[in-house]
Amino acid sequence: MARIFCVTNQKGGVGKTTTAVNLAAGLAKIGQRTLVVDLDPQGNATMGSGIDKRALQLSVYDVLLENASIAEVRQHSAKVGYDVVGANRELAGAEVELVALDRRDKRLKQALEQVVGEYDVILIDCPPSLSLLTLNGLCSAHGVLVPMQCEYFALEGLSDLVNTIKQVHANLNPQLEVIGLLRVMFDPRITLQQQVSEQLKQHFGAKVFDTIIPRNVRLAEAPSYGLPGVVFDPSSKGALSFIDLAHELVARIAAR
Ligand code: ATP
Ligand code: MG
Repeated sequence: MARIFCVTNQKGGVGKTTTAVNLAAGLAKIGQRTLVVDLDPQGNATMGSGIDKRALQLSVYDVLLENASIAEVRQHSAKVGYDVVGANRELAGAEVELVALDRRDKRLKQALEQVVGEYDVILIDCPPSLSLLTLNGLCSAHGVLVPMQCEYFALEGLSDLVNTIKQVHANLNPQLEVIGLLRVMFDPRITLQQQVSEQLKQHFGAKVFDTIIPRNVRLAEAPSYGLPGVVFDPSSKGALSFIDLAHELVARIAAR
C-alpha cells in the first residue's frame, strides 16, 4: 500500500515542485514505485516530469470531477521513471465547480484508493494556497512534506500551515501528520539561513529532515529540459541531496 504525501506550503516559489519531481525521481532510482499527482493549475510538475501539459487528453481535473479514473489519466514518463497524473490551466476551473458538489474535499482521496496497491509512494504537488485543491491533497495524504527556505518570514507562514494541518487532522483526516520539514535552497554562507535553520531544529526537532537541499543552479536549469535535476545532472550536488532525501524518507516510512 502506497504512502501518500502532500508537498505543501502556501507560500509561492519556495521549492514545492522542485521537491516533488526530484524526490519522485530519487525514489524511482532507489526502486520505489512512485506516482506524482500534479494538483496545481500551473502544471509545473507535469512539465518538469517530461509531459506536455498542453497535450493532455485527460488531467487531474477530470479525476476531481469524476469524469475519469486515475488509471485512465496517469501516464508513465519513461525519462524520469515514475507515473504522472498531469494538470493544466483547466484545473483552475475545478476550484469553482467543486464548491457546488458533494464530497468536494474527498474526491482525490477516493480516486487514489483504486491505485494505492500499485505504488510505494504517491507525491502530490500542491498549489501555493490553502485552497480546495490543497484541501483535496491534505484529505488524501498520510503526511505533509513542507519545503521551506530558511528566511525570517518562512517561520511566520509555517504557523498558518501547521494550524491548517491541525484542523484537517481534527475534522477531516485523522491520519494526517507532518512527515517532515525540508530545508531547501540552502546557502550555508548566509548567517541568517543558519540561524533560521537552528530555530527550526529547536522548534520542530526530529520533524526536520536531516537532509538539506542546497541552492544549486542545475536544479533550476533542469525544468527547461522537462526533467528533474536528479535525471538531468545526476552527479550535481542538488541531485545527490535529493537521492539522500529519498533514502531518508523511505527510512522514516519504515520507522512508522
Ligand atoms: P509555486 O508556488 O509557484 O508552485 P514552488 O513552491 O513549486 O512554486 P519551485 O517552482 O519548485 O517552487 O521553485 C521556484 C524556483 O526556484 C524555480 O525557478 C526553481 O527552479 C528554483 N529552485 C527551486 N529549488 C532550487 C534549488 N535548490 N536551487 C536553485 N534553484 C531552485
Ligand atoms: Mg509549484
